[in-house]
Amino acid sequence: MAKIIDGKAVAVKIREEARTRTAALQARGVRPCLAVVLAGEDPASLSYVAAKEKALAGAGMASREFRLPAGVAEAELLGVINALNADETVHGILVQLPLPSGIREKTVISAVDPAKDVDGFHPVSVGNMVLGGKGFLPCTPHGVLVLLREEGIPTDGARVVILGRSNIVGKPLACLLSRREVNATVTLCHTGTRNPGLYTREADILIAAAGRPGLVSAGMVKEGAAVIDVGVNRLADPGSKKGYRLSGDVDYGPVAEKAGWITPVPGGVGPMTVAMLLLNVVQAAEDAANAADAGAGARAAAVRYD
Ligand code: NAD
Repeated sequence: MAKIIDGKAVAVKIREEARTRTAALQARGVRPCLAVVLAGEDPASLSYVAAKEKALAGAGMASREFRLPAGVAEAELLGVINALNADETVHGILVQLPLPSGIREKTVISAVDPAKDVDGFHPVSVGNMVLGGKGFLPCTPHGVLVLLREEGIPTDGARVVILGRSNIVGKPLACLLSRREVNATVTLCHTGTRNPGLYTREADILIAAAGRPGLVSAGMVKEGAAVIDVGVNRLADPGSKKGYRLSGDVDYGPVAEKAGWITPVPGGVGPMTVAMLLLNVVQAAEDAANAADAGAGARAAAVRYD
């Protein structure tokens, strides 16, 4: 029977770190602030945004929400982002995806100042991730990495199979897991993969990020593997209060009998995503405060030497 990975417990530790660093910044007169831009009324987006804002408040950080109608013009949305880029009291900018149809996601993501790109989606952030430069890492893949580390799941030389090749989960995960310090051998499966079970059954670590409930059956899992379920699917459940229940991509019960570790949904990767966002926001605020201090120091030095 698999050990259940408690993402909530690991996330609590990370959130505590974010809170400590926030308090240190506040002592310097800086309160980390995230601007959340939300266009439209997608119910899942609304609940994700609410969870992020609650977590920020819990760590002592500020958030400012900018709600725009689903029919907002792209130019107006870009205007909001430009104003936030220029606002020194805003340290991070999060544009909640998906954007309404008619708005170009790439254009909007590229408009965010990379210094405030706490989602890690800007092409500059992605480039730095690939090249190992300084920049923000995307929250969900980074959260998965931290979960593996905190659980002591060996990655050095491990075979990892990822199901899903999106820009926000699958691709960055493949990149991060193949870094030298993680040292896994990664296979990325997607809708074009023939017979994915051939690969998944070889995996020491299997990561499902396809958004397909029930995709990973016990027959696709190697005995003792670590199974990380990133998927979040809303399944109709008329008997429940909300009318739906959340399910991952993994057939949880049977897979838990066979795997060595497993993440539940909810309570696995989801809380880590939010916790890593908090760390990115506090990092952005620290960077801004350090740059401002260095600027002030440089100005003072210039005055002295003049
Ligand atoms: P996406 O729709 O952008 O990408 C899904 C990917 O899965 C695609 O690359 C597609 O090729 C691949 N895919 C689809 N069917 C497949 C199959 N049968 N076999 C192999 N690959 C297949 O989705 P996304 O944004 O990457 O999100 C994936 C899932 O993760 C969703 O359920 C989403 O809700 C969830 N998610 C969770 C978190 C979290 O914090 N827990 C964060 C982001 C996304």
